[in-house]
Amino acid sequence: MTNFVDLFESCSWDETSKSIYTKTSVDVERALNSSQRTLEDFKALISPAAAPYLEQMAQISQRLTLKRFGKAIQMYVPLYLSNECNNICTYCGFSYDNKVRRKTLSPMEIMQEVVVIKDMGYDHVLLVTGEANQTVHTEYFKKVLELIKPHFSHISMEVQPLDTEDYKELIPYGLNTILVYQETYHQEDYKKHHPKGKKSNFQYRLETPDRLGESGIHKMGLGVLIGLEDWRTDSFFTAMHLNYLEKKYWKSKYSISFPRLRPFSGGLEPKVAMNDKELVQLICAYRLFNEEVELSISTRESIVFRNNIVKLGITSISAGSKTNPGGYAVEPQSLEQFEISDERNAKEIAQMISSQGYEPVWKDWDMSLTKN
Ligand code: SF4
Repeated sequence: MTNFVDLFESCSWDETSKSIYTKTSVDVERALNSSQRTLEDFKALISPAAAPYLEQMAQISQRLTLKRFGKAIQMYVPLYLSNECNNICTYCGFSYDNKVRRKTLSPMEIMQEVVVIKDMGYDHVLLVTGEANQTVHTEYFKKVLELIKPHFSHISMEVQPLDTEDYKELIPYGLNTILVYQETYHQEDYKKHHPKGKKSNFQYRLETPDRLGESGIHKMGLGVLIGLEDWRTDSFFTAMHLNYLEKKYWKSKYSISFPRLRPFSGGLEPKVAMNDKELVQLICAYRLFNEEVELSISTRESIVFRNNIVKLGITSISAGSKTNPGGYAVEPQSLEQFEISDERNAKEIAQMISSQGYEPVWKDWDMSLTKN
């Protein structure tokens, strides 16, 4: 196997889906009792047959998470740098065909946003842009990293997929983590949701984690946009991707996120709805499958859900997020990428975490220690 595409092409979506939906309680019990869980076990844990075992899964997930991560919950916040985008994505407020005012933050505006974010207590920031290669390109990212690096101990980015050489150039500027969601592993549906722009190239996106691994990135984040396709099958392919990457690029760390389709201006209804119980099942299934992976929950989720999920397996959480460029200080009223659900500020989320006996962690101590 030279890269993930080879492995991916050897698996059929329909057969994978069928194999998940035909798992039985015997398969689920085998998965629960196993000490070294396989991808087949993961299928059983995300299958409908596992629904009656949710309590048991939650208990194991909690135990494994405590063993590996203790009671620490990492806090991070997104900083939207630009809503310019050359792609059409059917589910996003920044889509090229959405007639909204476009904005890319200047260095001075970025620093205005940084002041507010620092004031909220954050030391880990996630930089987000659309895909506008003429405006937000590697040179722009270098300038932004240079500007903000002195203020943060961990910088993540969620921007257009880049070439390996670009990632290699950005890492010395202080880039720690790249998030790149496949959105869906269903190739035909992917085309329907990405009809125009560079993002319509399914294969280039699918190969991005391989390019990241080759660049030697510290951490990469994977995931799908839940709601575009059958979440169980999509999640299986994500787990398979994670499994492949961990073996091949073992020096990098990995995280998984669970974005569920949210309303935005011009909204798309989820094709496949996922209820809260199913999301808990999925989070626990990932933890049972992989004790090392970081699991992240954003402000897309509701207050009640986020309060309850803290103890069940997640390791990082965002709070007080604005999903528009300039949203914290420069231009609070500009168009959001999507509506957030949990509007509590960072302090309130930190209090909620502490009240459950967990510790909100604002600084990524690992990174600072490895640098000394
Ligand atoms: S999801 Fe990303 S690439 Fe697609 S329209 Fe939104 S910002 Fe652009």
